[in-house]
Amino acid sequence: MSIRPTEINSSKKLYALLGSPVQHSLSPLIHNTSFEILGLDSVYHAFDVHDLGQVLRDLKVRCIQGFNVTVPYKESVMPYLDELSNEVKIIGAVNTVVEKNGKWIGHNTDAKGFSRTLRPYKNAVANQNILLLGAGGSARAVLYALLIDYEPKKIFIFNRTKERALNMIEEFKTLRPEVERLFISLSSIAGLDITLAVNASSVGMKPDECLLGADFFKQGMIAYDLIYNPASTLFLRHARASGAIGINGLEMLIEQAAAAFEIWTGQAMPANEVRKKLGQKS
Ligand code: NAP
Repeated sequence: MSIRPTEINSSKKLYALLGSPVQHSLSPLIHNTSFEILGLDSVYHAFDVHDLGQVLRDLKVRCIQGFNVTVPYKESVMPYLDELSNEVKIIGAVNTVVEKNGKWIGHNTDAKGFSRTLRPYKNAVANQNILLLGAGGSARAVLYALLIDYEPKKIFIFNRTKERALNMIEEFKTLRPEVERLFISLSSIAGLDITLAVNASSVGMKPDECLLGADFFKQGMIAYDLIYNPASTLFLRHARASGAIGINGLEMLIEQAAAAFEIWTGQAMPANEVRKKLGQKS
């Protein structure tokens, strides 16, 4: 049975993750390790949420300092917040909330997390074609990061539900309009000249599923899978077998957590110690 925020009996400052399912989340380990290292009298709990409104009322009573939001609440949490960051207004999804003077302010640190981890490939991606798989909350954060921080030529977008991809393209149309974005069907992907392929769909969480065939990947291509569990998805196994550079979602997870930690505490997260702790766990 899942516990409610008001049942947490502690005088420490409370931070939380709201989502469902959350039992395999690494966020409690990341943030509690960071609080301990920095000597902050704070604790981070993961709540498996079924009634978002009730849990948010509990969190108000418990005077929460901040929380993360994950699937499936990144969009539905927005009406409960007092203010939204500019990024959130464009991305349309919240993954981090901070309490400031009694107000809850929604941020999106997924975009920053993705962008920070892609930085070593900035020159390689400039003026090249990108393939983005997915049109959910994380795909929207990736699209925002690519448009704001990178200078691609074209972004091809595939999503199972075509209408959702077309809506995303429409909603982002005023952001860097010089970068062309096009919906692409799965059957047309094979002929594209792609430098960076990003899997922001949830396909790959089961070990033997991938939206792309092995023959899509090429030597030198950058293949970025947001999924970090499993660490080596079929997308990444195909990519690496073809000589492509494979990146999984673990570093993005750490970087989006670091950005949230900074918003909450004003301090830098001890990311290297967190990496060591995560390494010990795997
Ligand atoms: P989401 O909003 O629920 O979106 C899920 C996406 O996957 C949608 O585009 C959906 O397409 C697609 N999809 C789901 N099942 C599919 C299937 N069977 N065939 C084809 N497409 C399918 O979730 P999200 O928040 O964007 O998360 C997506 C993935 O990114 C998850 O695996 C999550 O763990 C990962 N993620 C990682 C990080 C990180 O820090 N590394 C951060 C955020 C998310 P439809 O629109 O057709 O439903």
